[in-house]
Amino acid sequence: MLKTAAYAAQNAHSPLAPFSIDRREPGPDDVLIDILYCGVCHSDIHQARDEWGGSIFPMVPGHEIVGRVAKVGANVQTFKAGDAVGVGCFVDSCRECAQCKAGEEQYCDQGMTGTYNAKERGNGAPTYGGYSTRITVDQAYVLRIPESIPLDRAAPLLCAGITTYSPLRHYGVKAGDELAVVGLGGLGHMAVKLAVAMGARVTVLSTSESKREASLELGAHAFAATRDKDTFKRLARSFDFVIDTVSGEHDYNAYLSLLKVDGTMVLLGVPEKPAPVAAGALIMQRRKLGGSLIGGIRETQEMLDFCAQHGVASDIELIGIESINEAYERMLKGDVRYRFVIDIASLDKAV
Ligand code: NAP
Ligand code: ZN
Ligand code: ZN
Repeated sequence: MLKTAAYAAQNAHSPLAPFSIDRREPGPDDVLIDILYCGVCHSDIHQARDEWGGSIFPMVPGHEIVGRVAKVGANVQTFKAGDAVGVGCFVDSCRECAQCKAGEEQYCDQGMTGTYNAKERGNGAPTYGGYSTRITVDQAYVLRIPESIPLDRAAPLLCAGITTYSPLRHYGVKAGDELAVVGLGGLGHMAVKLAVAMGARVTVLSTSESKREASLELGAHAFAATRDKDTFKRLARSFDFVIDTVSGEHDYNAYLSLLKVDGTMVLLGVPEKPAPVAAGALIMQRRKLGGSLIGGIRETQEMLDFCAQHGVASDIELIGIESINEAYERMLKGDVRYRFVIDIASLDKAV
């Protein structure tokens, strides 16, 4: 076992603090990764505070992991020491069901093995995420990071990037489509960049008037403040797609009213409590309501290569691990431009 420095929540009410974990020595199919950067996803907060139920403690969050290969097992041909690699939201799946065979491991019939807050297949040991200095992962669940993307700005692509890329592809967003992104946080800002790169006309719908200018700098074509009720009248029946990345309680019906006839709203945010959807909001304009969960390994690699090709990376605020609890509080206030990324070099010092 490899003693590894980490940061963990001991229970749903405790702040994150230094913790020591064991990583397995790499087996024949494993890649041992020295972690350099880890993005901070809102799902880390939901799970560390047990907002979705069933959280496993102690919890080392983090599923936007980027680092360099330290060592590989005997069967590993595609990665070698020094390669820039990434790990996203899962580290294993059954590999046999229809979804796994189709490269959609996130929908595995037996459930994917989360990078953290899950149990390893076989031995049932808890999985620990990227708020740590190294991780051992089966090569089939490791991504290659194109060298043209700065590694710190690549980290959020492993969750925020793929979570927004996958539905844009699946629901068929194309050049010229009118698309609204609701919530300009980690996921939202990636949705803007990726949809713009695909040629859509993008409007940001935000509770934060202060993000107006910045959203246009990200490439959005328009901005509308959702605290202004007039916005919902003015933009009624305007969009082919609404991509909803909101983490907190909000009224789905109000956003559905912004879709044109046959428009589609895709839910990506996972608020703590369920919210009602009125049948009329869908029936009246033959609208569709869908959802999407991260993305499979093959599509995640496709997204990374797309980002390299289009010069897309996340806009980040790099922090030391000692600032993680403060970063959570700032995210809860919508005060992040647009993803906190932990510089894991700070962890060696912190423990
Ligand atoms: P984030 O960076 O905190 O951004 C969320 C944004 O939503 C905020 O910046 C804010 O944007 C807006 N917002 C928050 N509370 C709101 C409310 N009550 N009403 C309206 N707007 C509100 O979070 P994130 O990391 O992007 O994650 C967003 C959500 O997606 C979380 O629930 C997360 O768990 C979920 N998620 C889902 C998947 C998936 O596979 N589907 C993957 C990753 C994350 P404005 O200031 O612009 O209003
Ligand atoms: Zn995430
Ligand atoms: Zn499966």
